[in-house]
Amino acid sequence: MAALAVVLTASLPSYGQTNDFSTWLDGVKRDARTAGISQATIDSALTGLEPIARVVELDRKQPEFTQTFWSYLDKSVTTGRIERARRLLAENRPLLDRVHARYGVQPRFLVAFWGLESNFGEHTGGYSVIQALATLAFDARRAAFFRAQLMDALKIIDEGNIAAADMRGSWAGAMGQLQFIPTTFVSYAVDFDGDGRRDIWRNLPDVFASAANFLGRVGWRGDETWGREVRLPADFDWDVASLKIRKPLAEWQRLGIRRADGADLPTADISGAIIVPMGHNGPAFLVYRNFDAILTWNRSILYAVAVGHLADRIAGLGPLSAKRPTGERPLKRVEVEEIQTLLATLGFNPGDADGIAGSQTRVALKAFQRQANLVADGYPSVKALEGLRRVAAEKAKAN
Ligand code: CA
Repeated sequence: MAALAVVLTASLPSYGQTNDFSTWLDGVKRDARTAGISQATIDSALTGLEPIARVVELDRKQPEFTQTFWSYLDKSVTTGRIERARRLLAENRPLLDRVHARYGVQPRFLVAFWGLESNFGEHTGGYSVIQALATLAFDARRAAFFRAQLMDALKIIDEGNIAAADMRGSWAGAMGQLQFIPTTFVSYAVDFDGDGRRDIWRNLPDVFASAANFLGRVGWRGDETWGREVRLPADFDWDVASLKIRKPLAEWQRLGIRRADGADLPTADISGAIIVPMGHNGPAFLVYRNFDAILTWNRSILYAVAVGHLADRIAGLGPLSAKRPTGERPLKRVEVEEIQTLLATLGFNPGDADGIAGSQTRVALKAFQRQANLVADGYPSVKALEGLRRVAAEKAKAN
């Protein structure tokens, strides 16, 4: 669907000679021996290894359009996936209950992660993880990060969890039914069935327990949900819509926040933050501490909402009630770059003009919107871009 913003060549620009790769690989082997990896593992995993051109290509690839909230949600939480998740939860109920009892993570969330990460074990990635990680560790762009992943991948093999030839995953080294990267595997994967191997590729007890162990260790609360869709009052102060601003539910209730159907918020003594991932024309959510745990798993707000929403749908709750905006199109990456460039020109601080609307860009956009008397939701939309162009043109004329 997404065309490439930049035409890519199939060659490996920063590689030089094949010889360089094998010299580099000798260094990896030396490091592995120093780290205590056995010679047998080093031989089985690294002998005759070649870089994969396609992996570098995928690492360089940038989508032309930014992802919108609705397109992402429609793709991730489909009717088919919800039905399948319910069926798989029922089939695996005894196991999921045991994992729940041990780690305190509700089954519907474990199944939601499983569904989003690998479509319930169906799409785990067909790349050799060692080969993909060696390619990316040799490439200059993120060499240190991927070298650490490669070393941990060797450790995982050396521990006897999986044979080098069976260690398959995504082009970026995300492995098995949960798509754990090796450093995450080393810290969080669990041998729940007690066969001596941590197997997130084929063993469901290990798959669910590893996910639950990760979530438990990053602060999951088994007695809370992830959050909920809410309705905002007409006089809502957009400045308080921020993951950084947490208030007790009673305080949000006082400020006019209600459940999506208009009912009062729960009276539970917990706090949460309001987020508007699509700006003032999209849905609003009140998110609790478990939302942060989901963000530790994957930093994407859209991913985190999709996990929570899928878990809700598995439990029988309905679709979101926010209306979809008509005529709103996704921004192109170059348009987000233009927003960033214009913000910088006007004296705001949006960070690098990288075409990705991260939190720094959104905070800067909010500041601009406030100054220009626009709805200050920090959401990079076509309207926001037009507003910036207008103000920048006026300023240029004045000078
Ligand atoms: Ca096991």
